[in-house]
Amino acid sequence: MTAAVTPRTSTVTCPHCSKRNRVPAAADSVPRCGNCHQALPWIVDAGDDDFAEVVEHSPVPVLVDLWATWCGPCRMVSPALERIAVERAGELKLAKVDVDTAPRLSQRFEVRAVPTLMVWRDGELLARQPGAAPEPALRNWLDQALNGQVRDDRVRDDRARDAKGDH
Ligand SMILES: [Zn+2]
Repeated sequence: MTAAVTPRTSTVTCPHCSKRNRVPAAADSVPRCGNCHQALPWIVDAGDDDFAEVVEHSPVPVLVDLWATWCGPCRMVSPALERIAVERAGELKLAKVDVDTAPRLSQRFEVRAVPTLMVWRDGELLARQPGAAPEPALRNWLDQALNGQVRDDRVRDDRARDAKGDH
C-alpha cells in the first residue's frame, strides 16, 4: 500500500461558462471557476484514507453517496444527486464512496444496502438513508436533514450509550 501523496482532484464543467476546472476533493473554501469566478459544483470521490478530510472537515454540508459499481439503483440515484449538487453549488458538496474500495468505511457505517446516503455538516452525521428513492424524495430528505428534522437512529443510539457511559 502506498499512501496518496497528491490530494485527489476531480474535473467539473462550470455551469455558467462551460470552462472545465479541476477541483480538489478537500479545501477550506468552496471551489470557484477560474474563468468566471462563480461557485462550482463540488462533486468528488472519497475513500477510507481521505473521508475525514473530504467529508468531516468540509466547510459546507456534504451529501455522501455510498455506492457500488454493480448496483443498479445507484445508477439512477447518482445522476439525481449530481443534479442537486449542481443546483446547490457553493452550498453543498457531493462525495461519492465506492464501498468495494472502502472496506473501513463500510464497516464503520455498517453499510448493508447500496446506495446508502448520508448528510454531514461540521463533522456531524445528520441523517442517513439506506436504499434508493425518487429525486423529489431525496430533495425533501436532504432539506429536512439540514433543518434538523430527521435524525439517524443509530447516531441517537450511540449518544444514549455514550451518555450512560459517562456516569
Ligand atoms: Zn465559469
